[in-house]
Amino acid sequence: PEEAPAAAPRERVRVAVRVRPLTEGAKRATACAKNKLKLKTAHDEKAFKFDVVFDEAATQDRVYAHTAQKLVERVFDGRNATIMAYGQTGSGKTYTMGEPLDMLSSSGDGVIARALQDVFERCRALKDCTVGLSYLEVYNEAVYDLLALDEEPLTVREDASGSVVVPGLTESDVSNIGDAGRLLHRGALRRRTGATKMNDRSSRSHALLQVRVRRANGSVGKLVLVDLAGSERAARTQAQGQRLREGIEINKGLLALGNVVAALASNEEGKGTRKHAPFRDSKLTRLLKDSLGGTASTWVVACVSPRTDDAEETVNTLRYASRAR
Ligand code: ADP
Ligand code: MG
Repeated sequence: PEEAPAAAPRERVRVAVRVRPLTEGAKRATACAKNKLKLKTAHDEKAFKFDVVFDEAATQDRVYAHTAQKLVERVFDGRNATIMAYGQTGSGKTYTMGEPLDMLSSSGDGVIARALQDVFERCRALKDCTVGLSYLEVYNEAVYDLLALDEEPLTVREDASGSVVVPGLTESDVSNIGDAGRLLHRGALRRRTGATKMNDRSSRSHALLQVRVRRANGSVGKLVLVDLAGSERAARTQAQGQRLREGIEINKGLLALGNVVAALASNEEGKGTRKHAPFRDSKLTRLLKDSLGGTASTWVVACVSPRTDDAEETVNTLRYASRAR
């Protein structure tokens, strides 16, 4: 009979902020100091504290080493983990995660490529793993399989053990970075030309890459790498309130994610009554149910612009990210 694995410790959601470089001629509203970020808005100056703050000098290597790299290790112990990039359009989410369309060339140094490289390297050393990739998009509350030829939306379920199941979702076994790059490139092309194509579809949809690692001992771990939809619409809708919500394209996923992560964070504190984490409120949070909270490890990388012109969106992003701690 197999020995029961030792209970994994509960994990806290960790939050990083990454400030992108200032564009030429723009004025700066941000100042970084260790894990604090100060922001000047039109009205006042605000200070925020996070697990880590990366200023614009932070290299891709440093961002990866501090966040996703540790998550990769856990997946080999049969644990789940998520890293996601949050922020307004143009703030550096895709720069940070890597653009799967260019995975074969320029953006090979984002989180996705680095994580895959580490996964394959470890697999070669352990000699007892298989790696399966799934690549999905959540757009207008519909889930699309970017590795499938047909464009039928998929449903999201949960099995008896609490694992998230997406019936019909393609999972392709890959064993090296070249094959993974080619697969993701094809998926990213499909994302761009899909049935629901829109000019700014990629800024309005979430892209999730799921990396499933199976070991010979039966353990299965899942790493989810998420390039979230631009936060500007969700934030604006919040600011305008319920009254104006109708008819406005809102991103339910980002709102639900914020509520889930805030509930997880406040439950970790152990103060007051336990809050309900509303995973069922959106497709995004349903998909992430077994990879957020509990024994899963999570990093949120909040991406922000240092420009004074963007300061109002930056406040929204920092407030959102602060709810996770
Ligand atoms: P988003 O995905 O959030 O819309 P992008 O990642 O596409 O934003 O970034 C917008 C632009 O800024 C891109 O040209 C990108 O290369 C550049 N950029 C973002 N962050 C950085 C960074 N840390 N260093 C250098 N260039 C960056
Ligand atoms: Mg992007």
